[in-house]
Amino acid sequence: MPPHISLNRSKLPEVGTTIFTVMSALANKHNAINLSQGFPDFGCDPKLIQKVQRAMSDGHNQYAPMPGLLRLRSLLSNLQNEWYQAHYEAETEITISSGATESLMCAIQAMVHPGDEVIVIEPAYDSYIPAIQLSGGIPIRVPLTYPTYRVDWEKIRAAINPKTRVMLINTPHNPTGTIWEDSDLEILAEIVRDTEIILISDEVYEHILFDGKQHQSLSRHPELAKRSMVISSFGKTLHTTGWKVGYCMAPAELTKEFRKVHQFVTFSTSTPFQHAIADYLEEELEQLITLKDFYQQKRDLFLQLMEGSRFQPLACQGTYFQLMTYADISDEEDAVFAQRLIREYGVAAIPVSAFYHHPPDHRVVRFCFAKKEETLVAAAEKLRKI
Ligand code: PMP
Ligand code: GLN
Repeated sequence: MPPHISLNRSKLPEVGTTIFTVMSALANKHNAINLSQGFPDFGCDPKLIQKVQRAMSDGHNQYAPMPGLLRLRSLLSNLQNEWYQAHYEAETEITISSGATESLMCAIQAMVHPGDEVIVIEPAYDSYIPAIQLSGGIPIRVPLTYPTYRVDWEKIRAAINPKTRVMLINTPHNPTGTIWEDSDLEILAEIVRDTEIILISDEVYEHILFDGKQHQSLSRHPELAKRSMVISSFGKTLHTTGWKVGYCMAPAELTKEFRKVHQFVTFSTSTPFQHAIADYLEEELEQLITLKDFYQQKRDLFLQLMEGSRFQPLACQGTYFQLMTYADISDEEDAVFAQRLIREYGVAAIPVSAFYHHPPDHRVVRFCFAKKEETLVAAAEKLRKI
């Protein structure tokens, strides 16, 4: 770097490489079983792959329309109606993006002005705060209560003021695996009613809830839906995190602003994947309906395998993550403990402190159970020895 170029001008001075990349790299380096970064170690439905191949050989290899394939958006519009009795116009209220990550970035850039305050519930998924900072917004962090990881509504109420422009919501919640109840939607509606707050709701785990629980999409609450940008992703739902196809659903005026950003971030999302997903949704919808059972079995298996270990599980109602406290094993900080777990025991997990600005000393790590049975068995065997 030439000496007259200042290195102090980073737009994200506190940001390093994302914890998911760091932990996966460390897992690979030490040949550890990787329960850190959230992705399945099993394949997606082979029919999906055939559909991508067909889309490519049928010539769907040029730019998709900027807002996404209309057929896919229309299917999403119907599904959103079926699942949450929500009404989104395919033409003007649904946009396909390159993963939920792109939708989150575009929604935040479109809504947050410099100096605006944005409420972020902590622990928070790691892309939220940098996106807010890039738009010049000020993140206002509100912690979940420990160990239940419920929203403390009085704290949210106290954080709101006339500068509050956006609140970020994530249910089912990464990393804690907690979900919102319908009472949470009611309280939120009451709190934001007389404000200009826009809600950006990250619902990428909307189909992974356990024990008969229902997903509380902001789209199913007509009053909240009017001020919400609801974001989801096919990555989790179809076991295809590497395809990076997500979407944002929002009232037309908000979608118009969203698309102003999206068109200059990626312009459009990969065409053959959109065709394949649309074909799949038309033909194989029952796969989505069984997703809850599929992951509940994995959660239960992992919990059963971990019985007799010195890790204590925290409640997990959704997502494919299980938090566990290691307070009975060590009083090291979680980042130190997670590194040692990889080096000495051959299992990678995510330290939950990575989701906080000022991490509390809770001694909790996150395990991803979106793994083959044999992976979970092998990991638990190592973890039980600690
Ligand atoms: N939000 C949350 C809470 C996530 O866990 C993830 C990733 N797994 C994303 C957003 C990003 O989704 P995508 O991979 O579709 O960009
Ligand atoms: N969402 C995934 C997780 O929480 C990881 C996504 C990523 O690696 N960016 O582990």
